[in-house]
Amino acid sequence: MSPDGGVAVCPGSYDPVTNGHVDIIARAARVFDRVVVGVVDQPVRKSKTLFSAQERRAFLLQATQKVPNVEIDVFDTLLVDFARKHGARALVKGLRAISDFEYEFEMNQLNRKLAPDIESVYLMASPEYSFLSSSGVRELATFGADIKDLVPNGVAQALHDRLSRDSG
Ligand code: ADP
Repeated sequence: MSPDGGVAVCPGSYDPVTNGHVDIIARAARVFDRVVVGVVDQPVRKSKTLFSAQERRAFLLQATQKVPNVEIDVFDTLLVDFARKHGARALVKGLRAISDFEYEFEMNQLNRKLAPDIESVYLMASPEYSFLSSSGVRELATFGADIKDLVPNGVAQALHDRLSRDSG
């Protein structure tokens, strides 16, 4: 697809999606005409995911159903190739505290080398979500904490079900 300045990709593993992710996706959808949320099938820098790519996609579909210009797609290729497939000219990432910076800085240089025509854009995490991560949510859920204020509807229950099944 030919590049379009109005299309952005929001990539991530979303294992599972949190309210912090939804905040970034919704804010990106206000800036770009169309946002494609790219669900990484098998993340390289993380261990095996708790939820399958199709499960993670289904949670995202449910969480973004009220935002009309957002679509969800799973990918297992280079991110810049996925962005090209969708005609995107921008990658949108959320930046929390300082922890995300080093990794994002490195990825930025690599992606820029591979695809100088695709710009990375960073949205600062909203203060209420700046310490929210999928791994943190999984850890809290493992120990039975109430996480329903941290994740979209349905995700908290699915996490508890999955974790109790895995430990039982
Ligand atoms: P996580 O690091 O929580 O496992 P992902 O790998 O799925 O998340 O990240 C997808 C994108 O969402 C990344 O750009 C990440 O920095 C961003 N992100 C994750 N959680 C938040 C948050 N609470 N606020 C803002 N951005 C976030």
